[in-house]
Amino acid sequence: MTEEKTVKRKKIAAADVCKKIMADHFYEMDEAVKTGSKKIAWCTSVGPAELLRGMGFLVYFPENHGAMLGATRMATELIPHANALGYSPDICSYLTCDIGSYLQKKTPLKMAYNIDSVPRPDVLVYNTNQCRDVQDWFAWYSRELNVPLVGVHTHRDIGDIGPAQIQDIAAQIQELIPPLEEVSGEKFDMDRFKEAVGYSRRTSELWRACLETAAAIPSPWTFFDATIHMGPAVVARGTKQAVDYYELLLKELEQRVTDGVAAVDGERYRLYWEGMPIWGKLRALSEQFYSLKTCVVASTYCNSWIFDQLDPKNPFESMAVAYTELFIVRDEPYKEQYIQDCFEKFKFDGIIFHDAKTCPNNSNNRYGMPERLSKKLGIPVLTINGDLCDLRCYSEEQAKTNIEAFIEQLEETRSPRRTA
Ligand code: SF4
Repeated sequence: MTEEKTVKRKKIAAADVCKKIMADHFYEMDEAVKTGSKKIAWCTSVGPAELLRGMGFLVYFPENHGAMLGATRMATELIPHANALGYSPDICSYLTCDIGSYLQKKTPLKMAYNIDSVPRPDVLVYNTNQCRDVQDWFAWYSRELNVPLVGVHTHRDIGDIGPAQIQDIAAQIQELIPPLEEVSGEKFDMDRFKEAVGYSRRTSELWRACLETAAAIPSPWTFFDATIHMGPAVVARGTKQAVDYYELLLKELEQRVTDGVAAVDGERYRLYWEGMPIWGKLRALSEQFYSLKTCVVASTYCNSWIFDQLDPKNPFESMAVAYTELFIVRDEPYKEQYIQDCFEKFKFDGIIFHDAKTCPNNSNNRYGMPERLSKKLGIPVLTINGDLCDLRCYSEEQAKTNIEAFIEQLEETRSPRRTA
């Protein structure tokens, strides 16, 4: 049961294209900053990216940089530099490690792409749909770099979303246009905007289809693979490049399903991951689950970049719907029903809740949800304490032992449905 062996994730062939898209994303912005050829907008990960593309900006996502700082394990030593400015160790570690990275002039872009720093923004654009931290994060850069800051304020902890909320958000998105025109020096172009919305919609449909291939038994890929392959859905949504990429990836995953290729050889158990990834430990966790013949088949996190409500015929309102109907915006009953729907689709045997110390917004274990879902679905749950980037909040030994015990519990309480 606890036997350790050297394991390797099965490489997805599309990964090379994924890597190139991510590299080109940074090279294009680096070039634009050097030549002044295009304006750069920083955007929160579920911010109004389509509007920015429609207005001719190149769009940079600081949360992606935060994830890179976490994955390269640079974050832990950089966070204290932001703490020293009064930004608490308890707030978003993307925020603190990214500000620490700026202060220390250290970025993973150097090692990955030989780029010295993240692109300097011409404007900072947020949406508080995910949390207030993003607004405070961008506000720091706005003061530091003397760059305009604009944003959308979303209603939070809501169940049903009514027309009043949608109209409000749609109006807020429209109100961004005049200040953005001032920065870009270009007139807003409705056709270009609609085109970006159309590409985002198609990207979302394809990304959803990719994620849903994991409903197959055995699953052709894991949550850990998906955290890497979601890169283009984050940084290139609203472009044709992202659409082309997910057509390619979907084809490969569907072929794996047809051929019965399992991401985890001999898949015996299937799990759902609720909460943020632990970026600096993705590999270790993926290898541990592999050795336990357990596939993490689905997650709230990777599903969060599905915006298939977008409609180029009705771009403002459909954007308002897409960016308000997000899981993170909703109340507990909605979230529980969402996970229950995933349970029916992906047929998992248990749920892991990641309690990320610095992200209460994406930690759904704190108000009894694991216990309620366990009872309702009749499956065990496990909470792992950790963090997205700050590895001082994560005990690897403890998590490892708890995961092993959890799988043993699965073995004892029921016979596996699968022995692929
Ligand atoms: S949702 Fe969490 S991880 Fe994301 S920016 Fe907000 S606090 Fe940070």
